[in-house]
Amino acid sequence: MGLIEVEMDDGPASAVEVADERALTDYYVNALLTAEEQERDEVAIPVVTAGFPVERAAEIAAMTIRSLAIIDRIRLVAFDEETCLALRTHLAAPVEESCPRCGARAVPIAYGPWNARNMAARDAGLVALGGCFVMDDGTDAQWECTADGEHRWTNGERDERRHQVAVLDVLDVAFGEDRGRSVP
Ligand SMILES: [Zn+2]
Repeated sequence: MGLIEVEMDDGPASAVEVADERALTDYYVNALLTAEEQERDEVAIPVVTAGFPVERAAEIAAMTIRSLAIIDRIRLVAFDEETCLALRTHLAAPVEESCPRCGARAVPIAYGPWNARNMAARDAGLVALGGCFVMDDGTDAQWECTADGEHRWTNGERDERRHQVAVLDVLDVAFGEDRGRSVP
């Protein structure tokens, strides 16, 4: 898994413009997949903010990269101080979710075959386990309430990457390979 860095460039800012949040996510996914196809160890990706609030643009960049850190060294290139700071925040922050009904802490639901690692995470109260069968259409529950384990919900497509990052952070950082970030 990759080391993710933020660096500042005096510009000009990236000329890339995308239509919506889905397209912005795709921009980072494509950059990473292209670098992987080319078998590169390192990739520099200009951060796109045009048309979005800086905070939201930085969150999408950070969550997409964290969910797919497949290149050894990923350099996110920002063109102003505000974007730089927002990126660093969203790269380092643990993904936190609370129950929309009662406000209790929520844990992400991990899908796929159960193994020693995700069962240890489940026993530690850091993750809930789903089954192997997923619809993968945005209707699969992503979170479980820690106060009421019967209550599961999904935030839909918008937060899909946040959920993936939450699962990766628990399973990879707390119970497996250290990807260079601190455990919350
Ligand atoms: Zn609840």
